[in-house]
Amino acid sequence: MCIKAKSLEELQDKVLNCRACQLRQTCNQVVFGEGDPDANIMLIGEGPGEEEDKKGRPFVGRAGKLLDSILAENGFDRFEDVYIANIVKCRPPRNRIPTPEERGNCLLHLYKQIEIIQPEIIILLGATALQGLIDPLAKITKQRGKWLSWRGIWVMPTYHPAALLRNPRLKQPASEDFKMVFEKYRELIDTKHFY
Ligand code: SF4
Repeated sequence: MCIKAKSLEELQDKVLNCRACQLRQTCNQVVFGEGDPDANIMLIGEGPGEEEDKKGRPFVGRAGKLLDSILAENGFDRFEDVYIANIVKCRPPRNRIPTPEERGNCLLHLYKQIEIIQPEIIILLGATALQGLIDPLAKITKQRGKWLSWRGIWVMPTYHPAALLRNPRLKQPASEDFKMVFEKYRELIDTKHFY
């Protein structure tokens, strides 16, 4: 199946009406994504959680607040500098990991989002994002902090902010991963970023 949409708004309209998998039967609403449609950096997480499902926005719970502060440490604002989306747009029941089939259905939306936004850098937040976009067998503990490439876009896998809340020892390596993104951003996009 190929998704046809010329703009992010057109794609959003289609995705908000999507019923392609069972996740839509149990969630409150589809969480499409938000941020700058022309962002050079795109962040991709797993899927909406309880708060996101209530508010219709990605990363707005505790993990989202932590993500905002990590972005701010590196001079990025969630609305002005990045675009945030997820592998699946509907909340899996009890926040379970989306199945490969659910992931596969929704990836078509994500591919189109990426095609329209055309980021220079993608940050994959957690194992599901890494496995969904790059390799179903990849391990986040092995791949985090290493640059990958996907369709010519620089890709940095790192831990999901929820994992940092559960295990604060992961904060330091995640901070190092974001520093690598910061350096790459200065190299590719803005040599004066955050000076
Ligand atoms: S998770 Fe994705 S594919 Fe499934 S219904 Fe929601 S928008 Fe459609």
